[in-house]
Amino acid sequence: MMGLMGLLVAESEPSVVAPKSLPQLVPNAACFRCDVCCRFPEADSFLRPYFAGQEIAAAVAHGLPRESFPDESGSQIDLRHDLSGEGYVCPAFDSTTGRCGIYEVRPLDCRLYPLALMWDAACKGVVLGWDTKCPFLRDTASDTIAAYAERVAGELAAEDIVEMLVANPRLIGRFQDDVVIVQLLPQLTARLKKAHPDPRLHPLTPTDAPRFVQALERARLLADDALAAYAFPYHFIWTPVLPYWWIESHETFFLFARSPDGWFMPLLPLGAGPLDDAVSEAFQLMQEWNGPSPVSRIENVMGPQKLALERGGFQFRPKEADYLYSAEALAQLAGDRYKSQRALCNRVEREHAITVEPYRVDHRTGCLALYDLWSSQKLSKGHQSHDSMGRLLLEDAKIAHGRVLAEPERIGLSGTVAVMEGRIIAYTFGYWLTPRTWCVLLEVADRSIAGLAQWLFRDTCRTALNRGAASINAMDDAGLPGLREAKRAYRPRTLIENWVLKG
Ligand code: SF4
Repeated sequence: MMGLMGLLVAESEPSVVAPKSLPQLVPNAACFRCDVCCRFPEADSFLRPYFAGQEIAAAVAHGLPRESFPDESGSQIDLRHDLSGEGYVCPAFDSTTGRCGIYEVRPLDCRLYPLALMWDAACKGVVLGWDTKCPFLRDTASDTIAAYAERVAGELAAEDIVEMLVANPRLIGRFQDDVVIVQLLPQLTARLKKAHPDPRLHPLTPTDAPRFVQALERARLLADDALAAYAFPYHFIWTPVLPYWWIESHETFFLFARSPDGWFMPLLPLGAGPLDDAVSEAFQLMQEWNGPSPVSRIENVMGPQKLALERGGFQFRPKEADYLYSAEALAQLAGDRYKSQRALCNRVEREHAITVEPYRVDHRTGCLALYDLWSSQKLSKGHQSHDSMGRLLLEDAKIAHGRVLAEPERIGLSGTVAVMEGRIIAYTFGYWLTPRTWCVLLEVADRSIAGLAQWLFRDTCRTALNRGAASINAMDDAGLPGLREAKRAYRPRTLIENWVLKG
C-alpha cells in the first residue's frame, strides 16, 4: 500500500514533476541518491503499491506483465527478487538505473509518496501523513511539508480521485506509527464510510482463496456432509452481482455480502474460538451497519452449529437443504428406482455422438452461446414463467457463469464441456468440498436434446467416482418445485440441514 515508492523519474524530466494533478515535493536528484523507494524487505510487504483496475490496464499497456497483478480489477503488485541486491523490488523498477519503467502511468499510491493515505489509529478517520522513512522529508521544514500536504489534500478532493478511492478502499492503508499525520480528511472519510462502513472490510478476490481455506480449517466445520456453501468458489462466483467483503478479527474470518437491503453473512464466522462469541461480534457489526433492519442474518448454518447456538438463545428459520447422494449410485443408475434416468441416458447414447472434454478458456464463447440458448429455453412457454424476476435471475446467473468461464482454475473450479457436431451442447463446473465429496456448482445443457442433462450429470458423477468421490453434493433446490422433484428423484442419501440465524 502506501510506502516506499513513487519518485524515481527519467533524468531528462524536470526536477519537479507533476503527473496528472498531483504536485511533487521531492526533487529528482534527491530521489536518485536514495535507496528507499520501490524496494521492499519481504515479498508480501504490506507497503507494495496498490493499483486500481484502470491503473493496471495502463501499466500493462506500458509493458508490465499482466501476471504481476493477482486481481485485474485492483490489487497490490506482486514483487520480484532484487537481482542486484537483497530483498524484493517492484517489477516496474529498474535496479540498474534506479528508475520506474512506468513513471508516466504509475499509480496514485506511488504518485502520493512520500505522503500516505491511511486510517487513523482508531480506524475512525482517513488522514494524510508523511512517511518518516523518506530521508528528504526528514530534512524538510515541517511548515513546508504541511503546506505541501494541504495542496495535495486539495487535489485528492477532486471527484475522479474520490471515486477511485471509494471504488478501491485498499488504497487507504492501515495506520503506521512512523507516518506523521498532517491532514485530517473528514469529507473523504464520510464518502468512504458511506460505501464501506468499516475500514477493516476487504473485497473478496481470488487472492483471498487461501485465507478462506485456512479459516475453514481453523473452524473445523468441513466434513463430507457439510453444506456446499463452505467453499470459496460457491461465494466468489457471485461477487459481480452481490459484493462480498471480509474482515479478519481475533483470528476469525467474517464473510459478509452487501445486498441492496443491507449487510448479511452468507456463512458462520470461521475461527477456532467460541462460536457464540464470534456470532455475537458479527451481529454487533451488522447492526451497526444496517441499524435495526431484519436483513442482519447469518445464512448456511448447519445442524450441529444450530444446536450449539440454540443453547445460547439464538433463533433460526429453515432454508433449503443441500442434496447429498452416493456417487456410486449416481454413476451406475442401477435398478428400478433409477429406471427413468437410465432410460434417458441410454436414449442420448443411442441417438447422439457426444464427446466430453475438460473445459478450456477457448470454449468460453461456445459456452456463453449455450447459456443464452438455455436461458431462452427456460423462459419459453412450458419451462418458466416470463416474469421479470425469472429474467433477472437468469441475467445475474449469466454474469456469474461469465466469471467462472473466464478463469475457473483460479477460483478453484474445474469443468467439462459436451460437444456434438462441433457445437458445445452442455457444460458443468464443480469443486471438491472434501477429498470425498464433489459439489456440482453449475450445469447447463441444451434442453432441446432429451435426456442430455441426465446424461451429463451421470457423466459428472462417474468422473468424480473415478477420482475418489464417495458423495455428490448437488446443492439445494432454491425452493423451486420442479427442481425439488428432479433432485428427489435421484434418491438423495441425505438432505443436509440448512438454517438461517436471525438477528
Ligand atoms: S510503480 Fe514505479 S514508482 Fe511505483 S513502486 Fe513500482 S517502480 Fe516504484
